[in-house]
Amino acid sequence: MSERVYLDWNATAPLRPAVRSAMESALDVVGNPSSVHGEGRAARRLIEEAREQVARLVGARAGDVVFTSGGTEANMLALSPAIAVAGGKAPRDRLVISAIEHPSVRSGGRFPSDLIDDIPVRADGRVDLAALAQRLDDLRRAGVRRPLVSLMLANNETGVLQPVSEAAHVVHETGGLLHVDAVQGPGRVPVDMAALGADLLTLSAHKLGGPKGVGALVHRNDDLHFTDPLIKGGGQERGLRAGTENPAAIAAFGAAAAVAARDLAPERAHMAALRDRLEARLDAITPESVVFGANAERLPNTTLFAVPGIKAETAVIALDLAGIAVSSGAACSSGKVQPSHVLAAMGVSPALAGGAIRLSLGWSTSESDIESFLNAWISVSEALLKGAKGLAA
Ligand code: PLP
Repeated sequence: MSERVYLDWNATAPLRPAVRSAMESALDVVGNPSSVHGEGRAARRLIEEAREQVARLVGARAGDVVFTSGGTEANMLALSPAIAVAGGKAPRDRLVISAIEHPSVRSGGRFPSDLIDDIPVRADGRVDLAALAQRLDDLRRAGVRRPLVSLMLANNETGVLQPVSEAAHVVHETGGLLHVDAVQGPGRVPVDMAALGADLLTLSAHKLGGPKGVGALVHRNDDLHFTDPLIKGGGQERGLRAGTENPAAIAAFGAAAAVAARDLAPERAHMAALRDRLEARLDAITPESVVFGANAERLPNTTLFAVPGIKAETAVIALDLAGIAVSSGAACSSGKVQPSHVLAAMGVSPALAGGAIRLSLGWSTSESDIESFLNAWISVSEALLKGAKGLAA
């Protein structure tokens, strides 16, 4: 079989070579990071060095980084009423989230469902800031004093960048805290906690070339404290995440963060050039294709598109058989294909949303990968459109 082409980087990115070697050498460190002997201190050093690297990636202080098992756990830890600010223990009294958040945020974390508010998005895929301001004002009038707002930096399906720093002003004016799920950002766009105005920020290693199963919740500063850790037990991670740390995964996360920060400018330009070329050719091959979120600023690596008459599941399987890994915009859980909640929130019809195919590129995607996809797309789209016309006849 010829080489496969991987265009599903928003699902997970391949391990970067520097990360693999950092991880392999960390696997040889035997100590428990909590032990006082030399072996333990060596493991501790790996973790603290990674903490510095992850903090540097987002312009934070190392002491404000809490390692977790990934983005999902970081979101679960963040979405809690029990956040003390500057010693004040009064709980967060509302959670406000957008309609296009990742399911781990849509779940509401530890807030009861009657304390969760939804903010709509506009047709271009950006959160409706006026609706957010209005909702926060209404909530304030209704007596809500300490809302927690959670907005993503970039949507994982469309790649649309969200107006996070503008939202931060509105949130802070009304006494709220802002949590930002920045999982899709690093290595693709600059991510700076202060510039974003984020009080809490979620990261996941496997989206930026690190291993799966490790992430972080970064705090604005040590003013913020969670009084109800998700996992209780030992005092690891400032008492916020009990359990012996995974030094190899954490060291690898640190290495991935360092490379993603260092190489952002050239990698971003590389992905944007390939993506623009891809979209231009896509339009030439299937002129009826619709690129979702094309009118908004997007990540440089993401294209979500549909062609009326082509079902995403069929196209994804046909492309897979042709050696190309892409994903459909719809989520598949327990064997059932659910229409994308993101496209539904943008007002896309279920019929068109059912055709959404996501292509997401990365630093090692080559021109020939894009050519291979386009060649496959010429035959796959022709066959599927012919099939659709045959069915309609
Ligand atoms: N948030 C966003 C925007 C994501 O895209 C993902 C992963 O797909 C997550 C959170 C969850 O991260 P993890 O896979 O590390 O649990």
